[in-house]
Amino acid sequence: MKVIFTEQQKKHYPHSFFSSGAPLPNPEVPERADRLLAAAVASGLMPEVPEDFGLEYISKVHTDRYLIYLKNIHRRWSRIEGGSSEVVPGIHPDRRDGGYPASAVGQAGWHHCDTASPVSADTWDSVLWSAHTAAHAANKVLFGERACYALSRPPGHHATREVASGFCYLNNAAIAAEVLRRKYDRVAILDVDVHHGNGTQEVFYERDDVLTVSIHADPVRFYPFFWGYAEEKGSGDGAGFNLNLPLPRGTADDDYLRTLDTAIDAIARFSSTAMVVALGLDAYEGDPLRGLAITTPGFARIGRRIGEIGLPTVLVQEGGYLSDELGDNAVYVGPYPGPGPKVRVSSPGGREPVWAPDGSALHYLAPDGTVVSVTIDYDGELRAGASRARTAAPTFVSPSLEETSYDVMPDGSLVVVRDDRTTQPEIRFVANWLEELKRLAPPED
Ligand SMILES: [Zn+2]
Repeated sequence: MKVIFTEQQKKHYPHSFFSSGAPLPNPEVPERADRLLAAAVASGLMPEVPEDFGLEYISKVHTDRYLIYLKNIHRRWSRIEGGSSEVVPGIHPDRRDGGYPASAVGQAGWHHCDTASPVSADTWDSVLWSAHTAAHAANKVLFGERACYALSRPPGHHATREVASGFCYLNNAAIAAEVLRRKYDRVAILDVDVHHGNGTQEVFYERDDVLTVSIHADPVRFYPFFWGYAEEKGSGDGAGFNLNLPLPRGTADDDYLRTLDTAIDAIARFSSTAMVVALGLDAYEGDPLRGLAITTPGFARIGRRIGEIGLPTVLVQEGGYLSDELGDNAVYVGPYPGPGPKVRVSSPGGREPVWAPDGSALHYLAPDGTVVSVTIDYDGELRAGASRARTAAPTFVSPSLEETSYDVMPDGSLVVVRDDRTTQPEIRFVANWLEELKRLAPPED
């Protein structure tokens, strides 16, 4: 599977935003992308740079005047004497059915809902490439890949047709859905970010060809406050095609998974033929935003359930803010175990960790001659750690994985032989195994 990303997405570097009236450093920093990319590549995903799709899909989601605004507002704003270095709105209409002003200050008020999505000279380029990243991943799925991960940054799910908010500018998940609609009649968007995907909901609220489902911390006490309630079910042709599943703050793994089942039932009833996952990682218990309390093993369980839906899937990165574990909660998409032929994989020199063919374990030849296997238990829980086996004999069987055997070749290469179980795709979230691997098999000094 591929991870789509380009460095142009890192140019946007917002300074601050206001939280409870106080200016705070903006947490949507480029380093998020570095961590997520490192974790994705370490998980075996192949990086690929997106193509430029122009405005073909973006303009299906956003209005022309909003795109013109985003592209030009920083240049216009910089002409305001005494104005801030970044475009930050200070006045908003209470409804958007009034007149559309010509003034830069007035338009900023129209096109932003809060102070969290400032616009600098670099913002347009980054948000454009973040959208191309989502479109490129969806295009991969359109042309036959089962799943593709769009490392879109800045995120997108709070962006409506013409309003930026919550660190979001262009709605990447909605853009991915529009790409999928070229081939698939019924596309589901499942938003697992801790915040309600209000932008995505708005874009498709009156449509019956895209089902929007969001699981999030209850907006009664959490951003985005005004949307995300269970009563919002779509309108017109879209009536019945929007499902909000708010959860009390602090909800942990088991209750979350029960709610996820409700979401999955809705996706099945809709007879979806393809899916976009708006992949926020900020439901994590250690996330600075503290909305829900999903553990890293919980993410693995959530990922597995989502993978079992079995649809062609585009994963679009949404939120998830810096914590030591951010990368550990990032996504890995691999096959789900089932019967299959034996396949051999090898690690030249035995020095790089090698994935089992079914993606269920990493194997590593430690300097002391033992093999370390880090596994994920498919009953849903992470196995507590890694197991080790002596390579006294050239071929032996792992104590933890009876069906796996290893050969250490004369040149020191590690060969892993294991059943290839590729009957179903699975999305799962790589948990702490990389840390475990480092702990058990420290590199040679
Ligand atoms: Zn979020």
